[in-house]
Amino acid sequence: DRSIVWFRRDLRVADQPTFLAAADSDEVLALFVLDPALIAPSGGARLTFLYGCLRELSAALGDRLLVVEGDPVDVVPRVAEAVSASVVHVAADFGPYGAKRDEGVEKALADAGRELHRIGSPYAVAPGRVVKSDGDPFKVFSPFRRAWADHGWRDPADTSAATVTWMDPSDKDGGPRAVRVPDDVAVDAELPEPGERAARAAWRDFLDIVDEYGDTRDRPDRPGTSRMSQYLKYGCIHPRTILADLAQRRSESANTYRTEIAWREFYADILFQRPDSARRNYDRSFDALPVATGKEADAAFEAWKEGRTGFPIVDAGMRQLRAEAWMHNRVRMIVASFLVKDLHLPWWWGARHFMQLLVDGDLASNQHGWQWTAGSGTDASPYFRVFNPITQGERFDPNGDYVRKYVPELRGIEGKAVHQPWKVGVPEGYPEPMVDHKAERQEALDRYEQVKNAR
Ligand code: FAD
Repeated sequence: DRSIVWFRRDLRVADQPTFLAAADSDEVLALFVLDPALIAPSGGARLTFLYGCLRELSAALGDRLLVVEGDPVDVVPRVAEAVSASVVHVAADFGPYGAKRDEGVEKALADAGRELHRIGSPYAVAPGRVVKSDGDPFKVFSPFRRAWADHGWRDPADTSAATVTWMDPSDKDGGPRAVRVPDDVAVDAELPEPGERAARAAWRDFLDIVDEYGDTRDRPDRPGTSRMSQYLKYGCIHPRTILADLAQRRSESANTYRTEIAWREFYADILFQRPDSARRNYDRSFDALPVATGKEADAAFEAWKEGRTGFPIVDAGMRQLRAEAWMHNRVRMIVASFLVKDLHLPWWWGARHFMQLLVDGDLASNQHGWQWTAGSGTDASPYFRVFNPITQGERFDPNGDYVRKYVPELRGIEGKAVHQPWKVGVPEGYPEPMVDHKAERQEALDRYEQVKNAR
């Protein structure tokens, strides 16, 4: 008897419930599908990271990962037929595309008398599970977080590559052609090391400093956050493993970190409830917000993308994004606010750019991170609270080290004066501020009146 473990966003062997489900089979085929619909919008950084994860996973399975290419609805049933597998085990996908794809695969498998078996998900608590007492979904984070913690989650599954007997994929009889994991895509950014081993090592290192997380997490000039986002995105580590380690800690900081994991689960839940919110304002009254269009808007967007706005903290963030395919959370909020409230551009332009470059680009966290900043999201930052890029810089990068690291043109300015280069003379090659923040703040508030009128 054979079954298949189809890996998707769970590229690991530890804490892997699909292995427990497959353990009864005599032989198990490990499968990954390169789906053009997901590959195309991924961006070079995420693809390179993904391919690295796949190579490591395959090695961990004794080079027994079968990689095929195509639409899963077509190729997964064909693989199942070629290896005579009766069941395909997966961690459930709750994203708008993945959920629909899985329904298609499930139906195609069922037509041939086979089964798609969902066990676990990329979350500690699967989207849709945490609901109010009347069964309605939560729209506000804090009560969600409390109910989520009360709901609780399983302990990590005790698994390794040896939990099941892996089938040699070359024993497959026909079916879709096996392909190699593609070569890395050329990207300029310096990427984190891919894979499960790197994820575990990074997590262990972070546990040494987790008790200071509450004090340092908002400081982009310090290595105070965990850098786990790309590992969580691809499931190199499961949040349950993280939460189990945090449960051993009593510090306030460990609790703060747990709350960040809860944000990830909250946004996945919201996207599950409202799949349309990936592309549209969650709060539809924001459809009435006038946004900039035309050549000037395009030029402003270019300047933002290039990190040439003349606002040092914004430019440092946008350049960190290019240099590392990652940006500090505080700065993500600052650059997003600048795009929406200083340049009056649509949040989805910024979100799309982030998704192209981020190594941790995740539809739920990204679109809702943007909608939070834009004020159009659920439980969002109120629109009238406009980030001041100068005081944000001075407060969270108090010595200016973060700006100088990413904006070489400003390295000659010492200390926090770097946040207002115009006061000491803007150096050659660095732009003057592209807008007057005070005036644009007022403009943003004026535009917001349209939203209020639409309610
Ligand atoms: P840590 O501070 O160490 O946090 C630990 C983990 O908690 C993170 O890895 C992440 O999984 C989760 N987390 C933390 N903050 C948030 C949050 N606000 N929302 C959801 N999950 C969170 N995160 C992504 O993973 N992918 C994205 O595409 C993404 N886009 C964003 C876009 C905008 C405009 C904003 C404001 C935030 C976005 N975030 C995104 C959330 C957050 O910025 C990153 O998760 C975080 O910076 C990753 O670094 P870290 O792992 O060191 O974070």
